[in-house]
Amino acid sequence: MLTNIIEQIERIVLHMEPRHSVRFLNVSPPWAIEAMQRARFRRTLRLVAERSRFYREQFRRRDIDVRRIEHPSELGDFYTTGEDLREHGAEAFLTGRADTAFETTGTTSPVPKRVFFSQRELSDMGRLSAIGLYHLGIRSDDRVLSAYDCSFWVSPAVLRMGLRYLKCFHVEAGKIAPQDFYQRAREYKPNVIFGEPSWLVRLAELAREGGAWPVKLLFGGGENITEEARRIVESVWGAPLYLSYGQTESFGTLGAECKRKDGYHRNDLFFFFETPETDVGGYSELVYTTLVRDVMPLIRYRSTDLTRLIDEPCACGLFAKRIAKVRSRTDEMVVCGMGNVGPWVFEEVLRNVNGHGAEWQAVIKHDGRRDVIELCVELAPSHHQGDVERVVLDNLRKGFKDFWKNYEMKLYEFHVVPCEPGSLRNGRKLKRVVDQRQMAALTVIQE
Ligand SMILES: [Zn+2]
Repeated sequence: MLTNIIEQIERIVLHMEPRHSVRFLNVSPPWAIEAMQRARFRRTLRLVAERSRFYREQFRRRDIDVRRIEHPSELGDFYTTGEDLREHGAEAFLTGRADTAFETTGTTSPVPKRVFFSQRELSDMGRLSAIGLYHLGIRSDDRVLSAYDCSFWVSPAVLRMGLRYLKCFHVEAGKIAPQDFYQRAREYKPNVIFGEPSWLVRLAELAREGGAWPVKLLFGGGENITEEARRIVESVWGAPLYLSYGQTESFGTLGAECKRKDGYHRNDLFFFFETPETDVGGYSELVYTTLVRDVMPLIRYRSTDLTRLIDEPCACGLFAKRIAKVRSRTDEMVVCGMGNVGPWVFEEVLRNVNGHGAEWQAVIKHDGRRDVIELCVELAPSHHQGDVERVVLDNLRKGFKDFWKNYEMKLYEFHVVPCEPGSLRNGRKLKRVVDQRQMAALTVIQE
């Protein structure tokens, strides 16, 4: 009864003007949000147990009686993984009629994960995004230009909806070449720019050479950025660059930075977050359960991102608690200027190069401006580095349209580095993709 009233109030609050919503949510007591989370969790669990083929089967096999479960942790070692989505197909997870779908872009496997949603869910996510963007300072008289990639990606759809509630002027350029964007954008006098971080770095380089215009803020989504690269973008535009954190599976944003840029304020109204396997520093793979989805809810979804939950209040005063900056991925997939790449991508580009079964390892570095991918390949002395690099780049162009597009946009550098046969593997399992940017990023954070 009480949670019903709280939920009614929440709906009213989310439908207010964003400036009133922020004020109201900031004064709501934490117990009210917790009570609502629990009620929503129980409802979602019953819904999937009744209607989703995948969950019904899993719960039956594990002898889980959902009527007895009050908290996600009571599900023990039951989780949903990206592999489950691929293996069983999105249809096995459906609990209602879908209006739209989005896909994850490239992962550890060439098979994309598909996730279905309804317009109602899109609208709710948009309202919450509007509240977050209002908190960052976006107002109805701002002019927004977005270079988010509209191809199967969830973020531009959620942003479009959020800006509708904020009543901003909004133009979608799509992910075009930064040079093209730079030339065409200024006609619209945008003072807010959205894009993927590595794309924003390239745009900042062009603006440094050709001149910047007055900008209030920049906003990046879809990948991480080093603090060094962030500082470059901010100094060129004389404006802050904020980041969001999310996944297609979560319908976009799980959290977004505030002006303090110290972690992402998380969306506890729509998700139940857990970090079940914490190390001594409190880091664990982030696991989340969706609370307000009724087309394709996910129970205890393993994000594969290693992070920490921060429950201490943020100095910005926002009611929402935080997720720390993601430290690394638990699988070998790396999000960089090239795109979302895993070992299979490099196996594919080395296809007719690597016929003699030589070892290889991809090392991701950052040169202060952009990501550098060094593909170390054990080559016989008869192979020439230049020839191999040409073949690899040719495979990249033919097989990976998106990665090639980013290469042409100079969002990253790509080199083949020849190594002595037998030099890469030292008796241990060879880690195929090594992200060396993390050490640099951590050093900057600790400064
Ligand atoms: Zn804050």
